[in-house]
Amino acid sequence: MTTISKALQAVQTRILRAATQCGRAPDSIHLIAVSKKVQAETLRSAFEAGQRAFGESYVQEALPKIAALEDLAITWHFIGPLQSNKTKLVAENFAWVHSVERIKVAQRLSEQRPAHLPSLNLCLQVNVSGEASKAGVTPAEIHALAQAVSTLPKVKLRGLMAIPEPTQDLALQHTQLRLLRNLFDQLNAQGFDLDTLSMGMSDDLEAAIAEGATQLRVGSAIFGARIKTEQ
Ligand SMILES: *Cc1c(COP(=O)(O)O)cnc(C)c1O
Repeated sequence: MTTISKALQAVQTRILRAATQCGRAPDSIHLIAVSKKVQAETLRSAFEAGQRAFGESYVQEALPKIAALEDLAITWHFIGPLQSNKTKLVAENFAWVHSVERIKVAQRLSEQRPAHLPSLNLCLQVNVSGEASKAGVTPAEIHALAQAVSTLPKVKLRGLMAIPEPTQDLALQHTQLRLLRNLFDQLNAQGFDLDTLSMGMSDDLEAAIAEGATQLRVGSAIFGARIKTEQ
């Protein structure tokens, strides 16, 4: 077995164990392999080991990889900070965007989504740690943004995403993840039809599963340590 397939299997085992522990169906939890700073050929090995969803944070880095792996049935997720001047490339090349925090960006993605492609799936990024430097809207702003995004024609609002403050403190992990879960439940109670909670990374995926995550974004546990980027 290759290093990548062993690492993927170890992550799948963690997912299975965590799901079993909290009584969730393992197939309700999807794994996105976060492949920023990872070479296309390594992604190909991960694909050969069964991985189908990949997450990229930088448009310019992702495009050559997407082109090099065009022969594979990969679902591409954009998970990084997104400026208005990059929306067209994202709308043309990705199936999902997890990091929407401004209506203007969502409008551009909807306008620029090619007509022959299905609607672009969107998650709204919420700042769950309250740190001023962190991306994402505040919990108080989420309802208005969700309302505005859900009227756009070529995007589909699927759910919420968060990047919690990294911590080994399990209670603090749960507090931040639960905040996102509660917002998700509130929006659905208000009539939205969200099915995606994008949370859980290499160091907090067990807590995220316990709090209801449906899409985990896991990088270093699959591809090894790299220079971590703060967002
Ligand atoms: C890098 C990154 C991840 C993966 O983080 P790991 O700790 O390496 O698993 C997840 N989400 C986002 C938005 C990232 O930028």
